[in-house]
This record gives sequence, structure tokens and C-alpha cells, in this order.
Amino acid sequence: SLSLQGKTALVTAAAQGIGRASAQALAAAGARVIATDIAEDKLKDLASDSISVERLDVLSPDAIAALAERHGAKVDILFNCAGVVHAGTILDCTEKDWNFAFDLNVTAMFRMMRAFLPHMLERGDGTIINMSSVASSVKGITNRFAYQASKAAVVGITKSVAADYVGKGIRCNAIAPATVESPSLRERLEATGDYEAARAAFIARQPIGRIARPEEIADLVVYLAGATYTTGQVHVIDGGWTG
Ligand code: NAD
Repeated sequence: SLSLQGKTALVTAAAQGIGRASAQALAAAGARVIATDIAEDKLKDLASDSISVERLDVLSPDAIAALAERHGAKVDILFNCAGVVHAGTILDCTEKDWNFAFDLNVTAMFRMMRAFLPHMLERGDGTIINMSSVASSVKGITNRFAYQASKAAVVGITKSVAADYVGKGIRCNAIAPATVESPSLRERLEATGDYEAARAAFIARQPIGRIARPEEIADLVVYLAGATYTTGQVHVIDGGWTG
């Protein structure tokens, strides 16, 4: 069975959306959770007996190193959830957009894995879950140029780590949701200038007939946190979009 009793999980971007729902679901499944984000105010009310909250800016190599120094020895499950969506085609994409997408969506993940993996290897056990998207190597999505490139890179670094450490007790998987309800989704829909039309279009592309709830993605995170026979995979969770 997939009990997370006795395990410690660290989640990035846990203040809202999928990260928050996952921190709560991991705790409900029995794990001790270290929930991190830059938005400390929104993290506060997550704190409980099983969830401790801490500020972590994943763009800061020093902050990552300090966090790994403090918690590395006990983290069994690392969920790299932090990421930003850039809207737009290649012609809309500035150098700044491109660099920021890679800094936050890819380089931060590289640094997190680089910092926590040695401790997992010492124990001969650990699982890493990296947030990708169907907008990656899975499917071409309109208006997601820098985002799609960065989330495809997430698939690459996930498969690489999985291949290198499969014999050493490490599992490393990516998750690839389609559209999920979250504060940033609301902002993206509002930014189109016609919230209702944009929302209807997003729902229309989900064969299942609705946008995912963050709790549904969190169920997959809990599964992967406890799963012992899957690694190097992109676990698509998309309401039938690419099925
Ligand atoms: P969200 O975008 O609403 O929230 C993102 C969180 O990240 C915020 O709490 C924010 O404070 C935090 N954050 C931003 N910069 C940070 C930094 N430098 N360090 C630490 N935390 C930082 O949440 P969401 O929509 O659930 O997205 C979470 C992840 O899921 C992202 O990687 C996103 O790309 C991915 N994803 C989202 C969807 C979707 O439709 N919502 C679909 C597929 C993948």
C-alpha cells in the first residue's frame, strides 16, 4: 500500500494552486511536509502538526543550498512545483521572457535536484516529482512558446536523472497536467480581456468537459510520492485531451 507514514516531503510553490493542494494531500496521506513558497503570507495558514512552512525563493541558489543544509538529510520526497506560464508565440517572446521561463521552470529545478539528490543517494531511497505540463514534449499548444520549451526541458532533466539513478533507489517522474483551476489561471483568463470566452475555450478543449481541480493533480502527486515501480515517465493528467 502507498502509505507515506514516516516520510518527509518538500514542496515548492506550495502557497496556492497545485502545490498547496499537494502539500495538504501529502500530509493527509501521512507524510511530514515542508511547504515552501516566496509568498509567506499565503503559506502561513497551511501550517499544522504535519506541515511546516518556510520561505524559499527557488531562483536563489543560496537559499536552496541553505534549505538543503537544514532539511536535506530528512527529505524523502521532493515535489518541484514552482513554475510560471508565459503566454505568447515565438514572435511575442522576448529574450527576457525566454530567460525567465528557463530560470524558474528549469534551472531552479536543476538546482533543487542537485541539492537534495546526494542526501537521497546516501539513504539509497528517494523520489522526485517535477512539474511539467501537456504543453511540453507531449503536445503542441498554441500561445505557449517559452513555457512549452521550458516544460519540455523538464521532461528531459527528469528522464536523465531517472536513467542515472534508477539502480540507486531513486525515482524521478514528471507530471503533465492540462488546465488546472488556480489563482494564476484566473489571472491568465482575465488577461485575455474576455474572461468568460477564454474560460469557455479552455473548457472546450478538455474532452472531460471541465478544467481540473488542483486536488485531482494532488492525488497523482501522492501516488507518485509512494510509488516504487515507475520512474522516468511523464504522467499525463489531462481530462482526455491527448488521449
Ligand atoms: P500558481 O501559478 O497559481 O501559483 C504559483 C506559485 O508559485 C505561487 O504561490 C507563487 O508565489 C509561487 N512562486 C512563484 N515564483 C516563485 C519562486 N521564485 N520561488 C518559489 N515559489 C514561487 O499555481 P499553479 O497554476 O497550480 O501552478 C503550479 C505549477 O503547475 C507550475 O509549475 C505550472 O506551470 C504548473 N502547471 C499549471 C497548470 C494550470 O493550468 N494551472 C497546468 C499545467 C502545469
